[in-house]
Amino acid sequence: AAAEARFIANNPRSKQLHELAVGVLPGGNTRSLLHTSPFPLSMKQGKGAYVWDEDGHKYVDFVGELSAGLYGHSHPAIRAAIVSTLDGVGLSLGSTTAQEQRFAAALCARFGLARVRMTNSGTEANLHALAAARRFTGRRKVAVFAGGYHGAVLSFGGDDGGAPAPAPNTVDRADFVVVAPYNDVAAARAAIAAAAPDLAAVLVEPMQGAGGCIRGTRDFLRAVQDAARAAGALFVLDEVMTSRLAPGGLGAALGLDCPPDLVSLGKYLGGGLAFGAFGGRADVMAVYDPRAPNALAHSGTFNNNTLAMHAGCAGLAGVFTPDVCVAFNAEGDTLRARLAALARGTRLAFTGRGSLIGLHFTQRGVHVVASSDDLARAGRRTDLRDLFWFEMLEEGFWITRRGFIALILDTPDDELDRFVGAVAAFLERHREIM
Ligand code: PLP
Repeated sequence: AAAEARFIANNPRSKQLHELAVGVLPGGNTRSLLHTSPFPLSMKQGKGAYVWDEDGHKYVDFVGELSAGLYGHSHPAIRAAIVSTLDGVGLSLGSTTAQEQRFAAALCARFGLARVRMTNSGTEANLHALAAARRFTGRRKVAVFAGGYHGAVLSFGGDDGGAPAPAPNTVDRADFVVVAPYNDVAAARAAIAAAAPDLAAVLVEPMQGAGGCIRGTRDFLRAVQDAARAAGALFVLDEVMTSRLAPGGLGAALGLDCPPDLVSLGKYLGGGLAFGAFGGRADVMAVYDPRAPNALAHSGTFNNNTLAMHAGCAGLAGVFTPDVCVAFNAEGDTLRARLAALARGTRLAFTGRGSLIGLHFTQRGVHVVASSDDLARAGRRTDLRDLFWFEMLEEGFWITRRGFIALILDTPDDELDRFVGAVAAFLERHREIM
């Protein structure tokens, strides 16, 4: 309560802006995840690895736009690509473009895809990938995993209790077989085999992102891939969040088949602009070939918008090269190991891989997290999570309230050190409740 009172006192402008916003946006909000009680913090500006709020406080940006902000704010190479596109190309040309082909080739080369198509979001990428799987197999159902998040209308629980329930769905829930829990090989095999006759696809994240940065084990993911194939269904890997974790994506790093039948991509790959893509096998993607008589339509005014095509390409080719990807994720692993060492024996646990870090406060202090069930069983402590959030804001760290850190490239090392110090001080300060 004291931390929340200080938050209110410290952020009068954010409070006022929220009061204005509720008059025009339901709850003052257009991205449900970003609502926080008593009101969300309004950010005014970002530069590099920092953001400033409307009341003038400066923060290290650990939200990293939920992983889409990998390049940071106005990275010089991304900025140059956007400015030169605005000056020399224009916004949307209502035509195919050479740049769209170049970017598609870069994505195919990087992620081992035979064909790819662009969308405006990861949600759309998954919806179109599932449509392709349905058309290709002539089947309807899709197996997903409890705790999985595949976009606004494709959310399957695992929420840590602080965010609103998934949006009312525009997809038919009866089409989905929800396999629980994640990382349970036997449960996955059984559910996939049982659904086989009408199963078009198995859709899985190689690490559950929004579900809490819960890593899928190699054995589990391989078993799911093989079970999908044995069922005559397509294996669809959702790499919207995880493609940043290894040069060819996390699936390739874990030894899954490359190319997968289908893969969905998004987030940072558009250079920080609205973006998604899906691709994979040429024979599957051919369902969208407009030269074919019964092709599926895949339209979208901004699918090949010039800014995303240029910014995305500049980022992938010139900034987030395979070497940079490896070094950046190694830094994340080092940071997570330092944090985990501090938190041993407390109610705080860290999950994730590379540059994506999950933070979990539980009653029983779980330290190995294989599924959202483990967190639920350990008893989520949203009160401690919120206290941490309020106090980290006071220390100048902007973190997703639900306990998620997506590192930005070029975050200064001394800020990472400072964060480790702030976490240590938090644990010490609240020793009796931690
Ligand atoms: N799939 C995964 C694994 C995600 O993490 C997300 C977004 O967080 C999506 C899909 C949806 O992407 P978008 O928010 O661009 O629609």
